[in-house]
Amino acid sequence: MRTEIFSLSPKEREQVTAALWDECRRQASSCSGCALCGVRKSVVFGEGDESSKLLFIGEGPGADEDETGRPFVGKAGQLLTQILSAAGIDRRDVYIANVVKCRPPGNRVPLPEEQAACDAYLQTQILLIKPALMVLLGATPTKWILKTTEGITKLRGRWFDWRGIAAMPMFHPSYLLRYSDDKRQGSPKHLSWIDIQEVRRQWDSIRETGRLEGVNFGG
Ligand code: SF4
Repeated sequence: MRTEIFSLSPKEREQVTAALWDECRRQASSCSGCALCGVRKSVVFGEGDESSKLLFIGEGPGADEDETGRPFVGKAGQLLTQILSAAGIDRRDVYIANVVKCRPPGNRVPLPEEQAACDAYLQTQILLIKPALMVLLGATPTKWILKTTEGITKLRGRWFDWRGIAAMPMFHPSYLLRYSDDKRQGSPKHLSWIDIQEVRRQWDSIRETGRLEGVNFGG
């Protein structure tokens, strides 16, 4: 007899979800789906609250992430943690993943074929987390997820409907590091502060009412 996942009890559903996470992690840990497998030290799968309503997606691991196996722990990651904290978001309460799970040599942008090879892991993560909100950090996840050629400067701070999930591009923290002293109105740092506050506002709204508040998709 076929067992439908939606006929499972909450406890059984939890067990199935945990098993799917384990299997996804297990497959990624020994993945040779693209050439990056030959140059990585670690597979940086992702971390955080696996049932968070808020998912952050970056480009790929850098040197510190490759060393530790954890996403966003280098300088850019520390800045992300600070930005989240300033907005009242504890990074342990969100999930953080990347488009590719292995470090491209010299931190180059992952090639389209590398992004495509790794996509099944990201899609599985999104499916299992079921976020209401996704923040796309920088040009690579923005272009990959939204299938756009528009630049991040034009798209940042706007909400897009991606398969029923509200997705917002933001500047990548490594880009902000280049402008760390510039806090003027309209600077990348100032704009990111506006963006993260909007993310926080919608995250609060989702948790309190189950709905987004005044979102104008694409606007
Ligand atoms: S980047 Fe993704 S597809 Fe490529 S080897 Fe690593 S885990 Fe596999």
